[in-house]
Amino acid sequence: MAAEIQETTCCVVGGGPAGMMLGYLLARRGIEVMVLEKHQDFFRDFRGDTVHPSTMEVLKELGLLEEFLRLPHQKVTSAGVVLGDTPFEVADFRHVPATCRFVALMPQWDFLNFLADHAKRFASFRLLMGHEATWLVSDGGRIRGVSVQRDGQDVQIRAKLVVGCDGRHCVTRNAADLELIESGVPIDVLWFRISRKPDDPANVLGNVNYGKALILIDRSDYFQAGLIIKKGTWDEVKARGLDALRGDIGKIAPFLGERVSELRDWEQIKVLTVQINRLRRWHRPGLLCIGDAAHAMSPAGGVGINLAIQDAVATANLLTRHLLAGHVPDEALAAVQRRREFPTRVTQTIQSGAHRALARVFENPGPIRPPWQMKAVTRIPGIHRALGYAVGIGARPEHVREQPPPRKLKLSPLAAAAYFGIGVTAAAVSCGWSWWMRRKAA
Ligand SMILES: Cc1cc2nc3c(=O)[nH]c(=O)nc-3n(C[C@H](O)[C@H](O)[C@H](O)COP(=O)(O)OP(=O)(O)OC[C@H]3O[C@@H](n4cnc5c(N)ncnc54)[C@H](O)[C@@H]3O)c2cc1C
Repeated sequence: MAAEIQETTCCVVGGGPAGMMLGYLLARRGIEVMVLEKHQDFFRDFRGDTVHPSTMEVLKELGLLEEFLRLPHQKVTSAGVVLGDTPFEVADFRHVPATCRFVALMPQWDFLNFLADHAKRFASFRLLMGHEATWLVSDGGRIRGVSVQRDGQDVQIRAKLVVGCDGRHCVTRNAADLELIESGVPIDVLWFRISRKPDDPANVLGNVNYGKALILIDRSDYFQAGLIIKKGTWDEVKARGLDALRGDIGKIAPFLGERVSELRDWEQIKVLTVQINRLRRWHRPGLLCIGDAAHAMSPAGGVGINLAIQDAVATANLLTRHLLAGHVPDEALAAVQRRREFPTRVTQTIQSGAHRALARVFENPGPIRPPWQMKAVTRIPGIHRALGYAVGIGARPEHVREQPPPRKLKLSPLAAAAYFGIGVTAAAVSCGWSWWMRRKAA
């Protein structure tokens, strides 16, 4: 039995993009919400920095956009790739139907701190850092809360609804025994940093050559770099040694020159296993999973954060009414899955296609010649705009739905007396009528 028991209306497990946005949206509607985050702060491994036009549109609808744009960020108006020596523009964000026609590159911790600071302004919001969910509490076939570890202490949090936003290695879906459908992914990514010079190529995210692909994300004075490797070959990369790795990076992106020597230690490199999967069913009575907990996204296209945010918006749109009423029926949870499964499947299908294309790169260790298909496709009129829309806005963008609080009937004393009088007269007439009918029948 837990030493401490706390109660809330909605317990959100995980303070990533999905959890923080959902916490904000529910607290904004006056719903008691607790967000549990196992870490003490938001600083952690690189997990993506891209805030897309669709997310900034949500921030605009919430009246937060101006303040958000005051945080340090880089604007990416188009994204391209260099195949061998040939640069290709891939996606153009300058025409997307949104207020911000660019992708904002911002460290994820800045974005999460921003959401947390704003959510804390609502009295019904609580962010519990250093609280790790260890299992779910269930009773009578319904999830009733979460078991939590805080400083080695057991705490139980009881809630009308638990929302699993605890990412790809989540406890919630395992505890609920929700079935996971895995899509095979042929790549992993090695993440590290390399300093950036002001005259380095702009808006180029990918460099592909010599059987390798290198992602370079502009973080002003440094690049967040990701070397894509064949799945499961991290040990081979290490066995070849750091010199060989530095040589590979220098060959793919020669403009980095001597800067590759900044990689001096394996400790500077983090290997991240790329996954694509999704739950067959995102919910159980009393529990819903969203974001990566329901569908782990690959970094391809940098859309995972935005999909997680869109899930949170849809969840708040569909569940606020029920949470305010104090009971969330299973059909309402199913409605969230129905709404969000389509964009998830579309995005994951495109990501899987991109992985298959990337995997072909590994087959040719020599200098790459851009395939004719790439040249032909990038010449199709409007293709860059279409790709800009697909990445920047995505399938089925969500909008914050304003749900006015339930209307309370306000009556003046005179009107109340009149309604009371009418009610009593109607009851008397109806009783008299039924007495008279019974008497007549007798
Ligand atoms: C290497 C890599 C690079 C990526 N790059 C990008 C990118 O550039 N752009 C992009 O949009 N997407 C990117 N993605 C995908 C993106 O990171 C995810 O899709 C997105 O973060 C999902 O958000 P989320 O809130 O659902 O989950 P997460 O961001 O994973 O957040 C889950 C949170 O839950 C917490 N947590 C976990 N378990 C518990 C527990 N038991 N108790 C309490 N808290 C818990 C975690 O600490 C974490 O804070 C990348 C992914 C990877 C692996």
